[in-house]
Amino acid sequence: MRDWDTLLADCQNCTACSLCRTRTNVVFGRGDRASKILFIGEAPGEQEDLSGVPFVGAAGHLLDDLLLSVGLSREKVYIANILKCRPPNNRDPLPEEQDACLPFLREQTALLQPRIIVCVGRIAAAKLIDPGFKIMRQHGQWFERRGVLMTAVLHPSALLRSQSNRPLTYLDFVDIAERARAEGIL
Ligand code: SF4
Repeated sequence: MRDWDTLLADCQNCTACSLCRTRTNVVFGRGDRASKILFIGEAPGEQEDLSGVPFVGAAGHLLDDLLLSVGLSREKVYIANILKCRPPNNRDPLPEEQDACLPFLREQTALLQPRIIVCVGRIAAAKLIDPGFKIMRQHGQWFERRGVLMTAVLHPSALLRSQSNRPLTYLDFVDIAERARAEGIL
């Protein structure tokens, strides 16, 4: 298994799928490499591609607010995406792109050894929890996969479009923080 620096360097030079031709920056992931809480989104958007940082812009600010409202923060968790390069025009990641990029996330997960994984949005939940995952019905539910507690929340971009879903997402974040405290990792 590669160490963090080697994995980062390999990711930044990756040409395993066609997204390497349109990216500005690889968005590898950010946060505390010692954290036991891993948040995983689907792919970088425009602001992420420009900055190289996951979850910036309006959706990222909303994620920050949700984290802070329950005593979490970017500094206390690790945040990554399934895809490390932006799909053009923010289209959904293609299955072959996800498969090409997933080894990076798998190695990040192996290095982190998280106790809790939070899938941010329906695409991450479908890829990592259950292909038939219904985000509106199953967000906030807990699953155990190979000793890791997994849950999913609505994507902050979706919350920007539908503000009425913010209270239920806040409750999901409250539950995540409570679970983390119960597990002794926060
Ligand atoms: S999206 Fe992933 S697999 Fe595709 S070029 Fe970027 S780093 Fe490589």
